Amino acid sequence: MEWFKKIMYGRYGGDSLSGALIVLSFILLIISNVLPKALWFVVIVAYIPTVICVFRIFSRNIYKRQMENYKFLKIKNTMRNSLRRKLNKLKDLKTHKYFTCTNCKQSLRVPRGQGKISITCPKCKNTFKGKS
Ligand SMILES: [Zn+2]
Repeated sequence: MEWFKKIMYGRYGGDSLSGALIVLSFILLIISNVLPKALWFVVIVAYIPTVICVFRIFSRNIYKRQMENYKFLKIKNTMRNSLRRKLNKLKDLKTHKYFTCTNCKQSLRVPRGQGKISITCPKCKNTFKGKS
């Protein structure tokens, strides 16, 4: 393993973004297998994330690669949180109703079956009427 250490010295190595790029390549390769022959170029496109991944692992610009990974993780977390929120919304759609504040667009959750109610936004104190 000495030779490997020597090669990797001063280089960035792997991170979450590189891992995600490999997964993306893999998915694209699977897709390209089931696509019609006319879409042959998808195979080439499928290898692009792998090439980027290898470039990143051997890159010496560690700061730049860290910033890329940081941005990637930020986007990933935003997407995960938004998905989680949507799933939670779906889960309690039977027991709760969702309203959007007419003033600040804040999403508000109200228990169902209360008839006509006036809803006060906890964020901006705006009051509006709704049927739960
Ligand atoms: Zn509001």
